[in-house]
Amino acid sequence: MCIFCDIVKGNIPAYKLYEDEDVLAFLDISQVTKGHTLIIPKKHYDNFLNCDEIILKKLTQTAQKLGNHIMKKTGANGMHLLSNANEAAGQSVPHVHLHLIPRWSAQDACVISFKESDKQDMEALHALLKMD
Ligand code: AMP
Ligand code: ZN
Repeated sequence: MCIFCDIVKGNIPAYKLYEDEDVLAFLDISQVTKGHTLIIPKKHYDNFLNCDEIILKKLTQTAQKLGNHIMKKTGANGMHLLSNANEAAGQSVPHVHLHLIPRWSAQDACVISFKESDKQDMEALHALLKMD
Protein backbone atom coordinates (compact mmCIF):
# COMPACT_ATOMS: atom_id res chain seq x y z
CA MET A 1 0.00 0.00 0.00
CA CYS A 2 1.16 3.54 -0.78
CA ILE A 3 1.53 5.95 2.14
CA PHE A 4 0.66 9.01 0.00
CA CYS A 5 -2.46 7.28 -1.38
CA ASP A 6 -3.40 6.75 2.27
CA ILE A 7 -2.99 10.49 2.91
CA VAL A 8 -5.22 11.25 -0.12
CA LYS A 9 -7.86 8.85 1.24
CA GLY A 10 -7.66 10.44 4.69
CA ASN A 11 -6.40 7.22 6.34
CA ILE A 12 -3.23 9.00 7.49
CA PRO A 13 -3.29 12.59 8.80
CA ALA A 14 -1.35 15.36 7.10
CA TYR A 15 -0.90 19.10 7.52
CA LYS A 16 -2.63 20.02 4.26
CA LEU A 17 -1.79 23.38 2.72
CA TYR A 18 -3.66 23.14 -0.57
CA GLU A 19 -6.13 20.80 -2.22
CA ASP A 20 -8.13 20.67 -5.45
CA GLU A 21 -9.70 17.86 -7.48
CA ASP A 22 -6.33 16.56 -8.75
CA VAL A 23 -3.63 17.88 -6.43
CA LEU A 24 -2.80 17.82 -2.71
CA ALA A 25 0.01 19.68 -0.93
CA PHE A 26 1.05 19.07 2.68
CA LEU A 27 3.96 19.67 5.03
CA ASP A 28 6.75 17.10 4.82
CA ILE A 29 6.83 15.14 8.10
CA SER A 30 10.60 15.65 8.19
CA GLN A 31 11.14 19.41 7.85
CA VAL A 32 14.51 19.81 6.11
CA THR A 33 13.90 23.54 6.43
CA LYS A 34 10.92 25.42 7.86
CA GLY A 35 8.02 25.11 5.42
CA HIS A 36 9.29 22.03 3.52
CA THR A 37 6.24 20.94 1.54
CA LEU A 38 5.26 18.07 -0.75
CA ILE A 39 2.92 18.40 -3.75
CA ILE A 40 1.34 15.20 -5.03
CA PRO A 41 -1.34 14.14 -7.50
CA LYS A 42 -4.35 12.45 -5.93
CA LYS A 43 -4.04 9.68 -8.50
CA HIS A 44 -1.08 7.36 -8.04
CA TYR A 45 1.87 7.60 -10.44
CA ASP A 46 5.27 6.23 -9.45
CA ASN A 47 7.33 9.29 -10.36
CA PHE A 48 7.52 12.26 -12.72
CA LEU A 49 8.93 10.10 -15.51
CA ASN A 50 5.67 8.18 -15.89
CA CYS A 51 3.19 10.76 -14.57
CA ASP A 52 0.42 11.96 -16.88
CA GLU A 53 1.66 15.21 -18.48
CA ILE A 54 -1.49 17.22 -17.70
CA ILE A 55 -1.23 16.20 -14.06
CA LEU A 56 2.49 17.04 -14.03
CA LYS A 57 1.61 20.49 -15.34
CA LYS A 58 -0.91 20.93 -12.51
CA LEU A 59 1.75 19.89 -10.00
CA THR A 60 4.21 22.47 -11.30
CA GLN A 61 1.54 25.19 -11.45
CA THR A 62 0.73 24.45 -7.82
CA ALA A 63 4.45 24.49 -6.98
CA GLN A 64 4.76 28.01 -8.39
CA LYS A 65 1.70 29.38 -6.56
CA LEU A 66 2.43 27.65 -3.27
CA GLY A 67 6.16 28.35 -3.56
CA ASN A 68 5.49 32.10 -3.75
CA HIS A 69 3.00 31.83 -0.88
CA ILE A 70 5.52 29.99 1.34
CA MET A 71 8.26 32.49 0.43
CA LYS A 72 6.01 35.35 1.51
CA LYS A 73 4.75 33.71 4.71
CA THR A 74 8.12 32.39 5.95
CA GLY A 75 10.34 35.19 4.71
CA ALA A 76 12.61 32.66 2.98
CA ASN A 77 15.26 34.01 0.61
CA GLY A 78 15.16 31.14 -1.87
CA MET A 79 13.59 27.78 -2.64
CA HIS A 80 14.28 24.42 -4.25
CA LEU A 81 11.80 22.57 -6.46
CA LEU A 82 12.93 18.95 -6.48
CA SER A 83 11.55 15.59 -7.52
CA ASN A 84 13.43 12.31 -7.05
CA ALA A 85 12.67 9.48 -9.47
CA ASN A 86 13.61 5.95 -8.41
CA GLU A 87 15.74 4.72 -5.54
CA ALA A 88 19.00 5.58 -7.27
CA ALA A 89 17.97 9.23 -7.12
CA GLY A 90 16.87 9.01 -3.47
CA GLN A 91 13.15 8.42 -3.97
CA SER A 92 11.83 6.78 -0.79
CA VAL A 93 8.07 7.09 -1.42
CA PRO A 94 7.07 5.68 -4.83
CA HIS A 95 4.20 8.14 -5.46
CA VAL A 96 5.28 11.16 -7.50
CA HIS A 97 5.89 14.24 -5.36
CA LEU A 98 7.50 17.63 -5.78
CA HIS A 99 9.49 18.94 -2.82
CA LEU A 100 9.35 22.66 -2.09
CA ILE A 101 12.29 23.41 0.21
CA PRO A 102 12.61 27.02 1.37
CA ARG A 103 16.16 28.31 1.85
CA TRP A 104 17.61 31.13 3.91
CA SER A 105 21.31 30.59 3.27
CA ALA A 106 23.93 28.08 2.16
CA GLN A 107 24.24 27.11 5.84
CA ASP A 108 20.72 25.60 5.99
CA ALA A 109 20.36 21.90 6.85
CA CYS A 110 19.57 21.20 3.20
CA VAL A 111 22.69 20.12 1.30
CA ILE A 112 22.43 19.92 -2.48
CA SER A 113 25.80 20.13 -4.13
CA PHE A 114 26.78 19.80 -7.76
CA LYS A 115 30.28 18.39 -8.14
CA GLU A 116 31.79 17.65 -11.50
CA SER A 117 32.52 13.94 -12.00
CA ASP A 118 34.73 12.45 -14.72
CA LYS A 119 35.24 14.67 -17.75
CA GLN A 120 32.76 13.76 -20.47
CA ASP A 121 33.29 13.59 -24.22
CA MET A 122 30.86 16.46 -24.89
CA GLU A 123 30.63 15.84 -28.66
CA ALA A 124 29.68 12.17 -28.13
CA LEU A 125 27.33 13.04 -25.29
CA HIS A 126 25.60 15.69 -27.38
CA ALA A 127 25.18 13.21 -30.26
CA LEU A 128 23.76 10.62 -27.86
CA LEU A 129 21.28 12.85 -26.07
CA LYS A 130 20.14 15.42 -28.64
CA MET A 131 16.43 14.97 -29.35
CA ASP A 132 15.43 14.60 -32.99
P1 AMP B 1 11.65 11.22 -1.32
O1 AMP B 1 12.78 10.71 -0.49
O2 AMP B 1 12.04 12.21 -2.37
O3 AMP B 1 10.83 10.08 -1.88
O4 AMP B 1 10.72 12.05 -0.32
C1 AMP B 1 9.75 11.44 0.46
C2 AMP B 1 9.39 12.42 1.54
O5 AMP B 1 8.17 12.03 2.12
C3 AMP B 1 10.42 12.53 2.67
O6 AMP B 1 10.93 13.86 2.73
C4 AMP B 1 9.62 12.16 3.92
O7 AMP B 1 9.97 12.92 5.05
C5 AMP B 1 8.20 12.43 3.47
N1 AMP B 1 7.16 11.67 4.17
C6 AMP B 1 7.12 10.34 4.38
N2 AMP B 1 6.00 10.00 5.04
C7 AMP B 1 5.30 11.15 5.24
C8 AMP B 1 4.06 11.47 5.86
N3 AMP B 1 3.28 10.53 6.41
N4 AMP B 1 3.66 12.76 5.88
C9 AMP B 1 4.42 13.73 5.33
N5 AMP B 1 5.60 13.49 4.72
C10 AMP B 1 6.04 12.22 4.67
ZN1 ZN C 1 0.18 6.31 -4.11
